[in-house]
Amino acid sequence: MTRVAIVHGDGIGHEVVPVAEKALQVLHPEYEYFSVDVGFSRWQETGCPCGDSDIAALKSADAVLFGAITTPPMKDYQSVILRIRKALDLFANLRPVKDGSFDIMIVRENTEGLYSGIEEITKDRATTLRVVTKRGTERIVKKAIDIALERDGLLTIGHKANVLKSDVFFRDICIAEAKAAGVEYEDKYIDALSLDVLQHPGHYNVIVTSNIFGDILSDVASYLVGGLGLVPSANIGDHFALFEPVHGSAPDIAGKNLANPTAALRSAAMLCTYLGDPVGGERIEAAIRRVVSSGVKTRDLGGSAGTKEFGQSVINLLTS
Ligand code: NAD
Repeated sequence: MTRVAIVHGDGIGHEVVPVAEKALQVLHPEYEYFSVDVGFSRWQETGCPCGDSDIAALKSADAVLFGAITTPPMKDYQSVILRIRKALDLFANLRPVKDGSFDIMIVRENTEGLYSGIEEITKDRATTLRVVTKRGTERIVKKAIDIALERDGLLTIGHKANVLKSDVFFRDICIAEAKAAGVEYEDKYIDALSLDVLQHPGHYNVIVTSNIFGDILSDVASYLVGGLGLVPSANIGDHFALFEPVHGSAPDIAGKNLANPTAALRSAAMLCTYLGDPVGGERIEAAIRRVVSSGVKTRDLGGSAGTKEFGQSVINLLTS
């Protein structure tokens, strides 16, 4: 039996994930759904944000639907989502940003770079090691090349090789792999790329970049489609997969029925496709489009529908 782990996490994760879970349950009542409670609230209650048994539970699932987890900027607190991505070796973070006139897939390296976790704070200095390995770069660029070839389009390599030697290394490996695969490619500095993607989104197809640059670029690019409430993501490895909105736990709106559940619903759509049901994935996408074009919108898109009302409208279409 197909097993799907459900992680609400913190903040608006408790509001948007139930909507996305409901959509999955409508399309796939035959799956087994089970909850895994990890995150900052759990740390506050128990002192443990995510234990080894939670990682084992996530690994036992065929796919994970994940909300968001609060990561307070505290010296002794380790990010739970970073731990999960590393433990499940979810090396590719796929973040699609698309609308009628553009369709961009941001492919972010998800396990190393500036999020290596190799850090030290002393009285006078703080250091974070930016780790870029040959294996890590080869596997992420190969993933990006496969997607670019499937879509028969351009691969853009985003880096900061003018300043960072680690990105000379990253860029050169990416270019060598792109040449070997015969894919059309270009490389751009990430700062200029971040502006150009807003000015000329139709130029871009697949963008491959390192961990922190991909994190920032996808938040920036979400502006093109209406903000963070809209953009889903897939975290993919060789053995596991986890689907989550690009947004975080949004403490400023948590518990107020204000969050847009679209990013979570689209993450569920990506999960459906991953589990072999692209038709179900497209049904979720189509239902979202129909609800929005009927004028039911959440506050971030200028409407007045709450999380629950918007979510219910999507579910109604899926059940009809
Ligand atoms: P955020 O994405 O939570 O929120 C940024 C802004 O976007 C806020 O104004 C928020 O209200 C808005 N927003 C986000 N999602 C929305 C939605 N679905 N509908 C409407 N508006 C939405 O980012 P942040 O405020 O920088 O971070 C908050 C917490 O989330 C932090 O603790 C951070 O570490 C964590 N975070 C977690 C993840 C993750 O678990 N993968 C990702 C990013 C941030």
